[in-house]
Parts: sequence; structure tokens; C-alpha cells
Amino acid sequence: MPITPTTCPLDCPDACGVLVESDDRGRFVQLRGNPEHGFSKGVLCGKTALYGELVTSADRLTTPLLRDGPKSTHALRPASWDEALQRIAERVNRIRAQPAGGESILAAWYAGSMGLVMRRFPLRMMHALGATLVDGGLCDNSSTAGYETVLGNPIGADIEHADDSDLLLLWGCDMVRTVQHLQPAAQRLCKRGVPAVAIDIYRTDTIRALERWGSRGLVIRAGTDAALALALARLAYERGYADRAFLERECLGAREFEAHVRSAHDLASTARVTGLDPDSISELADLLGRAALPFLKTGVGFGRRRNGAMSMRAVCSLAAVLGRAERIHYESFGTFGLAENAIERPDLRPEGAPKRVVNHVRLGRELESGRYRALFVWGHNPAVTCPDAARVRAGMARDDVFAVVHEQFLTESAELADVVLPATTFVEHADVYRSYGHRRVQYSRKASNPPEGPRNNVAAFGAIARTLRLPPATWDTAPESLCEELLQASAARLGREGLANLRAGRSFKLEPDAQRGRETPSGKIELVSASAAAQGQPAMASYVPDDACGQKGEFWLTCAPSRATHNSTFNHSARHLARAGRPHVHMHRADAERLGLDAGEIATLANENGSLSLPVALSEDLPPGMLRVDGLPRACDVPEGVGINALVSGELSDLGESNVLYSTRVDVRRRG
Ligand code: SF4
Repeated sequence: MPITPTTCPLDCPDACGVLVESDDRGRFVQLRGNPEHGFSKGVLCGKTALYGELVTSADRLTTPLLRDGPKSTHALRPASWDEALQRIAERVNRIRAQPAGGESILAAWYAGSMGLVMRRFPLRMMHALGATLVDGGLCDNSSTAGYETVLGNPIGADIEHADDSDLLLLWGCDMVRTVQHLQPAAQRLCKRGVPAVAIDIYRTDTIRALERWGSRGLVIRAGTDAALALALARLAYERGYADRAFLERECLGAREFEAHVRSAHDLASTARVTGLDPDSISELADLLGRAALPFLKTGVGFGRRRNGAMSMRAVCSLAAVLGRAERIHYESFGTFGLAENAIERPDLRPEGAPKRVVNHVRLGRELESGRYRALFVWGHNPAVTCPDAARVRAGMARDDVFAVVHEQFLTESAELADVVLPATTFVEHADVYRSYGHRRVQYSRKASNPPEGPRNNVAAFGAIARTLRLPPATWDTAPESLCEELLQASAARLGREGLANLRAGRSFKLEPDAQRGRETPSGKIELVSASAAAQGQPAMASYVPDDACGQKGEFWLTCAPSRATHNSTFNHSARHLARAGRPHVHMHRADAERLGLDAGEIATLANENGSLSLPVALSEDLPPGMLRVDGLPRACDVPEGVGINALVSGELSDLGESNVLYSTRVDVRRRG
């Protein structure tokens, strides 16, 4: 049976190598990990190991669906591709005939597939239409902004060499749930007696794992990461751990920063702010100060807050004080430098058509504004994935917004569409993948034939573009040709060896481009940042308490990644759902007792944005005053019919105009 090497397409830093087995007629049989992949080494997480459930699911969309009237009165009905394309063409041509018609078409895509071709090819059509685009602020822009403010070019340490470290520090990173393939290295380090510490806002699965392996975790108060990092920087100066030669040579504002941290952030006040005991902070300062080769892994946990960029700035500034700036591993695509515009082709935008980009976090408000006549969605389920999700749902439900959704399943967003187009899964199309965790690129060929009906993003959007008579570049191509175009356009970066490996189906590791500089305004590490000051932020990393965007609820609400499901399409797999179990709100026993709630009772979480009810699970891992919900509970399983992000504010982070997912506060009561 043919076996094809491919790549897990999910929004996960591990970007694992996958082998797909198909039968002689090209039908999917099964998949497993690719042992030749240099990072994942043949191991897949439980979510993707069962991905065949999604490929072969009877629930998959296999035909377009159309709505013949208002969303409130007309249901979706099956239709042919021709009919669906004609419907789209009629509506879009009418919109384009209006003044500024192109701009009133909004394109919203996200991380359903991380493949560069599937994600970015539909943008060709959107550019050719002069459409408005969403930006990428839904995930980690605040962390990226914080990192770039201090350190510039986000490359950092090589995760495949984490084993060489003499200290492992996991900060805001629940490795067990989000960077699973770092676990073996972490375990080996612990076995060798190398110190390992995880810092998080509750006792995560990672902290539990480190405890099992003889190491430890530090649970700090939510949103106080900057206070801890600045105290550790002060201790580094006081105890002689600061690398003064490095500071002098590489950093802008080293003296001001030293005076800044020495003026506050003493042990006692930091202990009060963070909730840690002073000895733990002191010990951590010594571990960091003595480590010659630490591996400092930051997740995006502390970044998805109102003060998220500031926390990242503080952690990066601490690393610079220690002379260990290059030892931070931040999740970023910054190392690759592939010619991604070769897929997107922004040059197809008509002359004079401005490139209007709107904030993804504000998608609900944008749709509410009445500015848009059409919405195209691919690789995305904004009705539950975006913050302020109730507003997004209301916006998508408007009858004056003609919504086209390209999807594998009838998701919450597809249910609100006027036209639904069935999509392929990753085993059914070719693509090029890079990772935001490791440094490997992969060229994945089509491994299996899709069922009759679903089309990949190139075929689906190409067919729309052709029907709209857009330029041939928007339709006269195929995924394999686009992969080749991308490789060719990136040939200088990939080199002959890279191209040969990729074309042979092997992952290729790209080392950072030595020609790239620091890429801060000054070309140095900026402990004092004029650009942050110009954006109304303190010029130096400071502790700014999380204001929860003014929400007054009693509890912090944290949404953790699920161990069993990855994104909302997994809600269409019975086996994944069975593994995940019924969604719950986890809370500390003392809080539950005070509120008179027993395990299993239904609690309503409510704030200024909305309300949602879930059964209670008691947890000793959460501090009092914190709630946790895992994964994305299905809107249909919640009495209010909404997802968890209906409680999340559409406000923005301090820098990077990103989400504030974890700055959510709610009140809790028993459901009446
Ligand atoms: S979800 Fe992540 S860990 Fe799981 S198989 Fe995909 S890339 Fe690997």
C-alpha cells in the first residue's frame, strides 16, 4: 500500500511528521508518526493519532449547502458546486458593482490548516477583489510584540538542543498540552538531575509532570509574571549574575534599566504581588544566575492578557541582564524567511485598491458596523473561536452579510453561512509547512483521494475566482504547482540541499539566516524602548497589573488547551469527544463550597459580555479565585448555545493589538 510522508496541519508548534497509508485506489487507510522527522521522531499526540476519525467521518460535508432566503427563516439545503458557484458570483458581482464594493468584502481565515498554500492561496482572490482582510491578532501578537520590542528578530534557542541545557525553565507554557515533543527532553534533563522549573498560574499538567520527575513548579498570581521577572533581574544585579560585558556590548539602556529594577521589585513586595514565597524567588534567581546554558521556554500563556506584551518584555529583559538573550525559545515563524508572498500575491490587488486590514480580535465589532456585504471564511470557525464571540455570531447572522464558509464539517460558523463549501482534510492535498516551535520545513504531497465533493482551498477558491472572471493567477493553478512556486521563490534561503530534501519528502531544518540583524530600531537589545514609549507604554519593562479590561467578576477565567481535541472540527469526532469527556468548569473546592456548588451541579458563569453554564468539577490544582475550562465546548452542549469565547472581551492587549483571552473575569452562581 502506498505510504506518503506528510505533516500534521494543526495549529501546534510541533508540526509533526506523519505517514499516511492509502489503498491502491487512493483511499485513506490509516496514519502514524514519521520516525524520520527530526523533532517528532515518529510520535503523534492522541489528537492526531485518531485523525482518521475525521477523514472518514460520516459527518463530513460532501456537497455544497445553500440558503435561499433570510437566515432566520431559511435552512441550508444541498446543492451542486455549479449552483453554489453561480450563487456566489451573482452576489459578489452585485457587491463589486457598488462604489468601494471590494472593500465591503471581508476575508477571515485562521489556523484550521497551518499549510502555507491552503492558508494563503485564497488571499489571491481576495487581493484581486480588493477585499478587506483580518490581521493575525487572534493568537500571539502581544507576545511577539513584547519579544520584538526587547530582542528584535524572534529566533531564539533551538528546541532540538534542549537536551544540552543546564536549566530548563518553562514559563507560561503547559508543555504537556502544547509542546508535547519537548517532554522527552525535559524528562531526560530531570533524570540527569538538571534543574527544571515551570512557572504558571495554576498547577498545570506540566507542573505535575515535573513533580513526578523530581522537579518543581511555581504557581504565581495571574498576570504577575512581569513582577517576578523584574525581581529576578534585580537579584541578578545584586548577586553578581548580571553579564555586564554583554549588557554594555549588546543592550541599549542597560544602566537605566538597572536603576529601574533596583528602585523597586524587592523580594518581599514581589512575594506579596506574585503569591510566591521569598525563598522560591531567591532560589530561582540562583538557578538562573548559575546556568551557563539555560533553555528558557516561554509559551503564550502569559501573553494572552491585557498586560501580555509587558510580561514578555520583562522576561526578555531578564534574559538580557543574564547575558542569555539567545536562550529564550519563543514560538515564532521568525527563523524561516520563506517567500510566502509567492502564494498570496498581494500584487494582484487592483491599482488604487487600498489594502484595508482590520483587527481580528474586533471581528464582531467589524461585522456589527454594517460596513460589509460579504464575508469569506476558510480554515476558521470565528463564531466560537474569536473573542467577543456572541458579537461575531450576531454579525454573521445578519442578512445583509452574504457569508461563504469553506469547511470540513457543519461548524457553528458554517451553520450561519449562506453558502457552505465542503473542504478536504490535510491528507487529501499537497502543502508546505513550517513550524513555530522547531526549525523544520516539510513539503507534503497529497496522500489520499477525498470523497466525492470536498475541494481543497486552491480548487474551491480557484473555482470561485474563475466564475468571477478574475485574473488566471487566481485560478489557473493547483496545490502541487503552488508548492513548487513557493520552493522556487525561496530557493536562495533553502539552498540546493533543502530543495532536494523537501522534494524527496524529507523534512529540512533551516538554521537562522546569519545575515539577519537584531531588527530593533537601534539594532541592539532594547532595555529602554522609544517605540514602546511612542505607543503609550512604559519605555522599560514594568509591572502593570492586569486590569481585566474593567470586568468586575470575582473569578479569573482561564481556558486551557484540551488534551483530547484540538480545534472545533474535532467536535465532529465521536472518539475525540469521548476522550475529552463532558466539558466542565473546574474550580477550587473552597470556592465551590462557599458558593454552595457540588461537583456535577450546573454553574452559570457570567460577565459583561455574556453568560454560559457548565457542570462543576472540583480541582485542587487551581488556586481559589480561578476557573478553568478545557478546550472549546460545543455551543450545542451549552444551554445558552454559545462557546466559551462569548465571555471574552473584544478589548486589546497592551502592545500588538492582540487578544486578552485570559484577562476574563466572571461571576459564578448556581444555574437557576
Ligand atoms: S497536534 Fe501537535 S503534537 Fe499532535 S500530532 Fe499535530 S503537531 Fe504533533
